[in-house]
Amino acid sequence: MSVLQSQRGVALLGSTGSIGRSTLDVLRRQQEHFRLVALTAGRNRDELEAQVAEWQPAYAALAGLHQDTRWPTGPDVLVEAATHPDADIVVNAVVGAAGLEATLAALQAGKRVALANKETLVMAGDLVAQAACAGGGEIVPIDSEHSAVLQCVTGRDGGLARLILTASGGPFRAWDAERVWHATVEEALQHPTWRMGTKITVDCATLANKALELIEAHYLFGLPYDALEVVVHPQSVVHAFAEFCDGSVLAQLGFPTMELPILYALTHPERLPDSGVRRFDPVAAGPLTFEPVRTDIFRALEAGVAAGRAGGTAPAVFNAANEVAVAAFLEGAIPFGRISETIEQTLEAHTPFPATSVEAVRTADEWARKKAQENVRQ
Ligand code: MG
Repeated sequence: MSVLQSQRGVALLGSTGSIGRSTLDVLRRQQEHFRLVALTAGRNRDELEAQVAEWQPAYAALAGLHQDTRWPTGPDVLVEAATHPDADIVVNAVVGAAGLEATLAALQAGKRVALANKETLVMAGDLVAQAACAGGGEIVPIDSEHSAVLQCVTGRDGGLARLILTASGGPFRAWDAERVWHATVEEALQHPTWRMGTKITVDCATLANKALELIEAHYLFGLPYDALEVVVHPQSVVHAFAEFCDGSVLAQLGFPTMELPILYALTHPERLPDSGVRRFDPVAAGPLTFEPVRTDIFRALEAGVAAGRAGGTAPAVFNAANEVAVAAFLEGAIPFGRISETIEQTLEAHTPFPATSVEAVRTADEWARKKAQENVRQ
């Protein structure tokens, strides 16, 4: 039976962020197929109230506050919303490590997790796979590159040999090393093709985002790191290439918008017509160009891939060190160039251990945050 024949319940975690708002835009056009049953915001009480007034969900909460007179608060509300009995699909659009327990709980409860919170997979890819296996849930990526790969491989029986994820290259793609090192917060937040939250925009400028995405791809598609590559593609029209064992390459294209991957994560493996997405026009897209990553300048990429290869708790440490360093950069505490250096120094000081439980992952995460804090204060 088509998954789209009955109206499906959606729980949205991170409703006031960039992906959260785009998800609501998609749902507004697709109300025949989906109904919003639960909403969680971080700290934005006013916007949550406006969303609740419009959508009338059965559950709403503020995950980023300790107390509130009207709404449930605290990190536990994410799990509460993610396991809501009326939710078939959980859109996890929480930023950073905070989204982990909600993803695991939703998978254990047999739900589809439409995942924008890539940190979850990076920190605990094996635990996520186990939770899905145990509870019958599934992960469908919202990340545009991974959505592209999923769209290329869906309906094809195996034979996937290599993935090439595209990167816009960020605002400093063509800058020299010295200028990149001293780039300001304002400059780092000028993303050339995508409009997103501040954390991920800085991750795009350092290319730490691509390291997170390669680790995410490793867990989602089961390929070794030698079969995962990144190419710089400034126009952000091709989102990924999937190469099969016979050498054939498929790609997914579209003008940059997160609404398409969001809708696909809700409907996979089927599709729904959507009037809100700009139609593709190859002439308007202009020349599509590709170039190698300058890994000597954007060192966070190789540091993250090395963490992925090391496995165990190393990816969680990479992620935590990056979160701390990005926050310090945004506060003006360190120059841009210190972000990748902080990541490298934190990883160097870490001896990875198996990430076999949430406690182990949280232990590594907390250790890395302390270590990275020491590093940024040097
Ligand atoms: Mg992406």
